Amino acid sequence: GSTIGILGGGQLGRMLSVAASRLGFKTCVFEPGGDCPASHVANFHLQAGFDDEAALIAFAESVDAITFEFENIPTAALDVLEAHRPIRPGRDALRISQDRLTEKEWLEGLGLKVAPFAPVDDMQGLTSALDRIGSPAILKTRRFGYDGKGQARIAADTDAEAALEAMNGAPAILEGMVDFSKEISVIGTRGLDGRVACFDPGENQHEGGILRRTTVPASVSHGVATDAVLIASRILTALDYVGVLGVELFVTPGGLLVNEIAPRVHNSGHWTQNGCMVDQFEQHIRAVAGWPLGDGSRHSDVVMENLIGDDMDRLPAISAEGRAALHLYGKGEARPGRKMGHVNRISG
Ligand code: ATP
Ligand code: MG
Ligand code: MG
Repeated sequence: GSTIGILGGGQLGRMLSVAASRLGFKTCVFEPGGDCPASHVANFHLQAGFDDEAALIAFAESVDAITFEFENIPTAALDVLEAHRPIRPGRDALRISQDRLTEKEWLEGLGLKVAPFAPVDDMQGLTSALDRIGSPAILKTRRFGYDGKGQARIAADTDAEAALEAMNGAPAILEGMVDFSKEISVIGTRGLDGRVACFDPGENQHEGGILRRTTVPASVSHGVATDAVLIASRILTALDYVGVLGVELFVTPGGLLVNEIAPRVHNSGHWTQNGCMVDQFEQHIRAVAGWPLGDGSRHSDVVMENLIGDDMDRLPAISAEGRAALHLYGKGEARPGRKMGHVNRISG
């Protein structure tokens, strides 16, 4: 049988590993940390740093194809890996999505709408960006942000200096605050043969910058749902992408704006585990392995709720619920803001 290499050992790597195993593949996880969620279920765990060239080569040579569960893989590591085995999705998607500025410019170049934005490297840059974009606005680090980390909101009357200080000297981007009516996302997959399949758009609610729940179907018109799927398909094809991609969108009176893209399986796609015959993790493994994509049509309505930090106190009650599927990541301590698992409640 063949082996799929997964870069990163978090919960996404864990669920990819489970899906791969169900299709008869072995998995090897490359992750610097020791006791990580994916290492509990993968066949092999190569524990080494992304700067360890010998380990990267040994990893690549032990697998048939390489994928990843996070987008911040150092470019030098990708150079080493790519010389030995195919990386799916490819370098373009990573390069573009690693930097919010590059990402927004690329999306605009594709003819898609995004929030007004401007690069900010210092106070002078922030002042001129605010002059152009106005407030309220959000200052975000260009790289490495997730779960709302590395962001500072600037209201009309707050002082911009504090926001800039929160960036810790990192290059940033100022975004105009979008007055959206809803946030939705599309999880799309593109196979090695170029075929595209998208899951139904989900409606996302965030709390404190972290995804709280995703509801399918999203309560948007058929036209908006179709637009969202078309946008995701366009991005997948433009990137010559292989695998699953998450596209976060804002619904506004002027149409859909793309918030960001994630070149991997996505938290807002976890509902597919219990709403579809073939979920996002299996779809990704199929694409990476060069298989045809599966049937990702939705058979149930689902509300996915993330279990974050002390949500785990409610576990005894949640684990006893009917029509609820529990997915836990095997993480030790439930720290504030830490994603510990999720529950998919189905109806319809
Ligand atoms: P993720 O964990 O999804 O990668 P992230 O840290 O990359 O999150 P964003 O997706 O940029 O952060 O922002 C998190 C949330 O903050 C968004 O889902 C949205 O609710 C809100 N937000 C971000 N940018 C804007 C904006 N320009 N206008 C209005 N709301 C925004
Ligand atoms: Mg993000
Ligand atoms: Mg986001």
